[in-house]
Amino acid sequence: MTPQYTDVLIIGAGFSGLGMAIQLRKAKLTSFLVIEKGAEIGGTWWENRYPGCACDIPSHLYSFSFDLNSGWSRMYPRQAEILAYLKSCAARHGVLPHIRLNTALTEAVWDEAHLHWRTRTSSGETITARVIVSGMGALHVPHLPEIPGLERFEGPAFHSSSWDYSVSLTGKRIAVIGTGASAIQFVPQIVPKAAHLTLFQRTPAWILPRLDFEFSQRARRRFLYRPSSKWLFRTYIFWTLDLRAGIFLGSKLMARKAQEIALRHLHRHVNDPQLREALTPNYAIGCKRILISSDFYPALTQPNVELVTEQITEIREHSVVTADGAEHPADVLIFGTGFKITELARGVHIAGRGGVTLEETWRERMGAYLGITVSGFPNLFFLLGPNTGLGHNSVVLMIEAQVRYILKCLKLMRRRKKRAVDVRAESFSRFRSELASRLRSTVWQSGGCRSWYQDSRTGENIAIWPGTVVSYLRATRRVKSGDFEWL
Ligand code: NAP
Repeated sequence: MTPQYTDVLIIGAGFSGLGMAIQLRKAKLTSFLVIEKGAEIGGTWWENRYPGCACDIPSHLYSFSFDLNSGWSRMYPRQAEILAYLKSCAARHGVLPHIRLNTALTEAVWDEAHLHWRTRTSSGETITARVIVSGMGALHVPHLPEIPGLERFEGPAFHSSSWDYSVSLTGKRIAVIGTGASAIQFVPQIVPKAAHLTLFQRTPAWILPRLDFEFSQRARRRFLYRPSSKWLFRTYIFWTLDLRAGIFLGSKLMARKAQEIALRHLHRHVNDPQLREALTPNYAIGCKRILISSDFYPALTQPNVELVTEQITEIREHSVVTADGAEHPADVLIFGTGFKITELARGVHIAGRGGVTLEETWRERMGAYLGITVSGFPNLFFLLGPNTGLGHNSVVLMIEAQVRYILKCLKLMRRRKKRAVDVRAESFSRFRSELASRLRSTVWQSGGCRSWYQDSRTGENIAIWPGTVVSYLRATRRVKSGDFEWL
């Protein structure tokens, strides 16, 4: 295969990769290639197709600021509608010809002599790129718990992110493991089909009501013909959500109010005191992702549903066994057990300056300057990298801020007639200490929980931005050229 050259190689065609590609094209920087491991574009919104899959951020904010959609059908968009929106954006902005599907990055090695990356893909081709932008996202490596006997299970078993629609759930005894953001969406959908559903919960979540509704034709027409109304609505949602950051950042009043709303929601739907107790979290709200659902609690009160809080100790051919010795029969096993976030660049060999690998650099702690770039890895940029996820607002806002920042770096390189840029080790460590001091007063440090937000060894939050979106927009508004080495 002939080696190829592209100026910018983008990894992934989800919200991040597409956002980057569209803005490159708008800036008339057309030497770029997007490689996508999946068979279609859409990233997480193509991979996750479980029943009830939807977003818990309102549609008018969970979209690109440069391509607002008047036609959203409801307040909280469902997976198919988000995927259709992403596909239409990609087509409208002319980036489809730049995308190569079924192609994963397997290796990227920095060539110090020529100041570019030599990469290899899953199809064996080599691509040389001056710049790599990773839009790989954090939530795509399924976490399957290591439970003794799992391989002995004789029925169908699958993870929420690879839902097996060929398996009929009608009249089956279903065992669901996990009660996170995905499970609370699919459980209410499958309860009516199941003969019996056993839900294994390790930690209860704080759940707020989901105030979802359909937009009337009139409202959609208003959004279409009066674009300012769309902007006003988006701005209103933005501020309402961004103010919620206080829950995470140490506001006792906001946290107390949010807990009250969640407890009222639980009490309204669950009368059984034992079930209520099992569903009441014993850690501070916001420490784990706050979930929103109005049909999860009602689903748990159905006669064919049983909530099990005992630890799972073993899986047998046709059952799940818990620590109290009880054996729960199951025909189908569904994992709603989340993703391995600490493995952001899992399976990809990335070697920067001096041959040092990203894996080695991140062995002690995963981190990146502004969540975007890592010292020793010139021209490698991350979208939604470490500590830039959000628990309270739309991540699309973070992606767009990062895309703008990367474009500024590219333009500065061109203006300075440089080929590469590497964040200085001192700037990187200064950012790390600022981040650590910001994190000190947050709920993730003191909330008394464990979640994928935290490094499994140190307990430190490595996933979420410890601030408002406004503060991140401020931090990324300008490229401080002194923080970088220009090569
Ligand atoms: P998750 O929120 O990490 O939940 C995983 C669940 O599996 C938790 O309840 C966890 O319990 C449980 N679990 C893990 N290992 C277990 C074990 N060995 N035994 C028993 N239970 C176990 O995963 P997810 O639901 O797939 O969601 C992941 C992320 O995707 C979310 O946090 C969110 O960022 C994103 N998401 C977003 C939306 C949206 O609307 N925007 C929708 C779905 C997902 P513990 O709590 O005890 O660890």
